[in-house]
Amino acid sequence: MIILKINSVKVQINTTLAEIKPLSLGKDQKLAIDVLRLDLIHPVISGNKWYKLRFYMEEAIHKGYTEIASFGGAYSNHIVATACACNFHQLKSVGYIRGDKTEPLSHTLQAAADFGMQLIFISRADYKNKTALIKNNQQPNRYWIPEGGYGILGAKGAASILNTVSLEKYTHIIAAVGSGTMLAGLLNGSRADQTIIGISSQKNNKSLESEVLHLTLSENQHRLILMHHYHFGGFAKHPSELIHFMVDFWKKESIPTDIVYTGKVFFAISDLLQKQYFKPGHRLLVIHSGGLQGNLSLPEKSLPF
Ligand SMILES: *Cc1c(COP(=O)(O)O)cnc(C)c1O
Repeated sequence: MIILKINSVKVQINTTLAEIKPLSLGKDQKLAIDVLRLDLIHPVISGNKWYKLRFYMEEAIHKGYTEIASFGGAYSNHIVATACACNFHQLKSVGYIRGDKTEPLSHTLQAAADFGMQLIFISRADYKNKTALIKNNQQPNRYWIPEGGYGILGAKGAASILNTVSLEKYTHIIAAVGSGTMLAGLLNGSRADQTIIGISSQKNNKSLESEVLHLTLSENQHRLILMHHYHFGGFAKHPSELIHFMVDFWKKESIPTDIVYTGKVFFAISDLLQKQYFKPGHRLLVIHSGGLQGNLSLPEKSLPF
């Protein structure tokens, strides 16, 4: 267990809290569906971000850097997770944030600032060119983590998510996809007889497949299935159909989901079940990758959890 201090309030990250929860969904089709609840490990850094950051942090500390910089938008779970991890390791953190500063700050950026991160706002045009951004803001004591934690070390950390489960029980592993780092890790960390299904939260991200494959070993690549039609209009879009589904899912399964990633994943699963995509005897492991703080951007009382 890891104890963190934000504003002198102690916060715990406890990866052993990530319990496996079986769903009632799919039982009538003789399917076993288990959910790995990474949302339970921490209220802010819940989910996959902690795993994706692990080895970047380790490398930065090992090489003697005293400061970490990274990138993200106003609702980036990666930014707040980076701020939290740096706070814990007593490293300085700097976040280069896309777009103009808003008052008040988004919940996400406020949390990052509370963890001590210095926020620097960058125009959308400048933000696009990360290579130039890094080059112009280079400092000898500064370690850069790529946007979204995308990279070999991020995928290596994501693969370690699977160390906590009895992997041989499952035929399929299903997870949300943003940058694709987590999915690449799941592909590398899974067994040769398992299929990995990724539900993209973005609309028309044509380069996603090559980005996932770029971080994976060639012998694993045929086990990847990316689904692109469960985006609900795009990355941060949350039409009422999605919200209704999330409320209904909560009532039936007592599992909270978020509007950006996991709501779409469980919707996809229930849709695939209706289409009899899975066969009797299949055993699914769904990664609940966390991110519940993203729901704070909704009007109050939109969700019962
Ligand atoms: C960031 C995030 C993802 C996507 O992870 P990638 O490695 O960028 O694909 C999925 N779910 C949640 C809750 C996240 O915060």
